[in-house]
Amino acid sequence: MYELKIISQFAAAHQLREFEGECEKLHGHNWKIEVTACGNRLEKNGLLIDFRVIKAATKKVLDGLDHKFLNELESFKDSNPSSENIARHIFKSLSRELNDEKVKITKVTAWESDSACASYTET
Ligand SMILES: [Zn+2]
Repeated sequence: MYELKIISQFAAAHQLREFEGECEKLHGHNWKIEVTACGNRLEKNGLLIDFRVIKAATKKVLDGLDHKFLNELESFKDSNPSSENIARHIFKSLSRELNDEKVKITKVTAWESDSACASYTET
């Protein structure tokens, strides 16, 4: 099994509902996003998938979050824009875009600070 990882980031504001603590107030984070893709078979050129393809798809998803107030987005209408749900949203969006018989998104991690992150995986 080959595993590829790319790292990207976005900045946004959020406010956690039904949460007692600092994150209940409106504030922002610079989220660092790690996207992991896996597969067994390489192309003839020795690549699983071009990093640029993963990066471009990730950029498209993150552009929808960057400099937004996440609570107002359709994607977080029914769920808190927590790092957990942000990771899940990115995972689902990228899986729809990139998964095929050779490559699958296996994990998305959202770092909301240098010392705290949440990951979403379905494997
Ligand atoms: Zn927060």
